[in-house]
Amino acid sequence: MKYYSTNNKNYKVSFKEAILKGLADDKGLFMPETINPLSKAILSYLQSLSFQEIAFEISKNFIEDEIPPNDLMTIIESSISFEAPVVKLSDQLNILELFHGPTLAFKDFGARFMARTMEYFLKDSNHELTILVATSGDTGSAVANGFLNVKGINVIVLYPGGKISKIQEKQITTLGNNITAVEVEGTFDDCQRIVKTAFVDEELKSKINLSSANSINIGRLIPQSFYYFESFKQIENTNRKIVYSVPSGNLGNLTAGLFAKKMGLPIHKFIAATNANDIFTKFISNGSYEPRVSEITLSNAMDVGDPSNIARIRDLLKMIIPKLQM
Ligand SMILES: *Cc1c(COP(=O)(O)O)cnc(C)c1O
Repeated sequence: MKYYSTNNKNYKVSFKEAILKGLADDKGLFMPETINPLSKAILSYLQSLSFQEIAFEISKNFIEDEIPPNDLMTIIESSISFEAPVVKLSDQLNILELFHGPTLAFKDFGARFMARTMEYFLKDSNHELTILVATSGDTGSAVANGFLNVKGINVIVLYPGGKISKIQEKQITTLGNNITAVEVEGTFDDCQRIVKTAFVDEELKSKINLSSANSINIGRLIPQSFYYFESFKQIENTNRKIVYSVPSGNLGNLTAGLFAKKMGLPIHKFIAATNANDIFTKFISNGSYEPRVSEITLSNAMDVGDPSNIARIRDLLKMIIPKLQM
C-alpha cells in the first residue's frame, strides 16, 4: 500500500515511511492510495470476531505485507488490550465508551498502536527518533504513556502551564525515562507553534530525526477506525440506520470513521459535533474553509481553529461523493 501526500498525489511513500515521518516533506498529510472494502464475509461475521481480530483485519487492509501477520497480531495484542463497550442509553441511543485505556482518553487507541508500530519498524536499525508533541491535555498523556520505554524513541511533550488538569499534568510529568515534559508559559497555540517551527528548522532536522504524534500521523488514525467496527458489532438491531455523532477537534476521529465507511461499514450518517470553534460546521454548510484563532471553552480537546485533518476529509469526501466540489 502506498501513501500519497495531500499536497501532491505523485509524492508517494510506503506505510513505514508515512508513519515514521508523520508529515510529508511538502507539509501534506499522508493518505492511503486506496481504501479497499473489507470482504463481505468479514462484515457479515463481525459478531463472531473479537475486537483484536477486527483490528487485525482492518490494519491488514492498510498495511498489507509491510508487517508480517504474526508481528501485526503481536502489535495489536499489546496495544488494543482494553475494551470499547457500547452502553445502551435508550431504545435508539447508545454511547461508545472510549475511556477504558490507561490514560482514560480515546487517544490511547491511536497512541499505543502507533508507538508499537514505530518500535517495530525501528527495531533493527540504530535510527533514533524524537517525537515532538504539543498538547492541550489528552494527547500528551496518551502519547507519553503509549511511548514509555519504547526503544529508539524519545518523546518531548509541550504543554501550556496551568491550562491542563492536575491529573493530566501528573500523567505527563511523572513518567521519566524516555519522556520529557516541557511546561510552556503560554497557550496550547504557543506550544503548537513551537512544534511547527521545529519541523521547518533545517538545522535541527539535520541533527535529529523528528516525528510527530499529533493526529497528522496516519499511524494514529488507522487504529481509531477499529472501534467503529467494534461498536457497530455491539449495537442491537442493526437493520436500523446507524448515525455516529463524533465530538470533533482536529477531526482525527471523524476521519477514522470515514475510513470505516469507505471499508464498507454501513454507517448512514456522521454528525461532526463542534463547540464554539465551529469552523468545520461552516465548511460543511457553505463549502468555504475559514480557519481562525481557537476560542477557549470547557471542552478544551475540541478547541481547534484550524483542524489538521481537513485535507484528508476533503480527499475522503471526494472519494465517497465523486461529484463533490470542495
Ligand atoms: C481529542 C479529543 C477530541 C477531538 O478529537 P479529534 O480527533 O481531534 O477531532 C474530542 N474530545 C476529546 C475528549 C478528546 O480527547
